[in-house]
Amino acid sequence: MEDSLERIAQEIRTASSCPLARSARHAVPGEGPSDARIFLVGQAPGAKEDMTGRPFVGAAGRLLTHALQTVGLSREEVFITSVEKFYPPGDRPPTKEEIAACKPFLLRQIRMIDPPIVVLLGRVAERTMAEEPALIGRCVLITIHPAAVFRTPELKRRLAGDMQTLRQWLTEEAARR
Ligand code: URA
Repeated sequence: MEDSLERIAQEIRTASSCPLARSARHAVPGEGPSDARIFLVGQAPGAKEDMTGRPFVGAAGRLLTHALQTVGLSREEVFITSVEKFYPPGDRPPTKEEIAACKPFLLRQIRMIDPPIVVLLGRVAERTMAEEPALIGRCVLITIHPAAVFRTPELKRRLAGDMQTLRQWLTEEAARR
């Protein structure tokens, strides 16, 4: 059968390869259009995402949505997901083993959507995707995880600046098409 975003999401929902699948309430595959030009990668679902099965719907998600809106981008036009597809209890960072179990899903999502621009939100996404062949030929924007702004409010400016860069890259990319 041909691969599709929905097929990948179904496989994530029934995945047993990740140890976190046992304790999670819902898998969080990610969401967005299959022809998204921008693909955002976070760390892992939080409690709210675990409850709903949707990515970035908690406080960090609201901040991210707002940051996108300030440069004229809507959530509906980007694909949003995380490296880890299941909630790590207590919001701890996912382990290497947990990431390794979920990374193949992320790579398939990237290859399926084939976005010209990938945004890595925070260190876990950055480390997981370092030297990753699936990123070759794409513009990769490395920025902070939006939740970092809650700990260090000055980072809001960094996020806003990176969103301006994102807007510019998208405009340039559209002009090249
Ligand atoms: N943080 C993430 O990295 N991903 C989510 O889905 C929510 C919060």
